[in-house]
Amino acid sequence: MHDEIINNLNSILNRIENACIAANRDPDTVKLLLATKTVSAERIRIALQNGQTLIAENKVQELKEKFDVLKDSKHTNHFIGHLQSNKIKDILKYEVTCIQSVDRISLAEKLHQKLQLENKSMDIFIQVNTSGEESKFGAHPDETISLIREIAQLNTLKIKGLMTIGLFSAETEKVRHCFRLLKDIQQQIISLDIPNVEMTELSMGMSNDLETAIEEGATIIRVGTAVFGQRMYPDSYYWNENKEDKK
Ligand SMILES: *Cc1c(COP(=O)(O)O)cnc(C)c1O
Repeated sequence: MHDEIINNLNSILNRIENACIAANRDPDTVKLLLATKTVSAERIRIALQNGQTLIAENKVQELKEKFDVLKDSKHTNHFIGHLQSNKIKDILKYEVTCIQSVDRISLAEKLHQKLQLENKSMDIFIQVNTSGEESKFGAHPDETISLIREIAQLNTLKIKGLMTIGLFSAETEKVRHCFRLLKDIQQQIISLDIPNVEMTELSMGMSNDLETAIEEGATIIRVGTAVFGQRMYPDSYYWNENKEDKK
């Protein structure tokens, strides 16, 4: 299991490097984030002991369960799952430094209230639904700018960029369209120069589409399967539950 993870990591790092070279980009401009849903803390620790530092969970419950085993291996925790507001206190407790999946004002407001009480701030990305699939979370592309204008008023939240999950499709051009759209929204926001908004990060690209994402300007790619192997649960289990909590 140890060697398998290390081999997989090496081949992902190669893919990133080759994609950067092909796209004329400096490989240092693309960060690898390990998406660790369903992966045991012991397996995650192997990656952390072999040079990886950035990991992310989709569920607060998993963050909690793995916290103790991982706390001695230096790393940074992002959060990439649908976040229910009643779980915010755990996000703070278990040392998440960036929530990539903020997609609604109600969540941002509750986060802000809690952060104010604790005298803290939080990096966030705005998740955008670029594929138009009903089943995916994220702000509608047409509503993203107004959402960002509102969230920018909340001074505990540091907006660092955008996140998206590309369309699941073997047709590269359809997937590329999602990433282009995210980049396009990023450029529009940069040109608006909204106070308290930094738009440096584009979190897009996963095991199957990271090359396309890098071509289109990703600064963070999120990889699970290609490092840790196939998961037992379908991803809909992580992406599609509690839709009623969206409002
Ligand atoms: C699971 C997950 C990933 C990684 O997906 P793989 O296809 O396993 O690489 C990336 N982003 C999010 C939001 C995820 O939930």
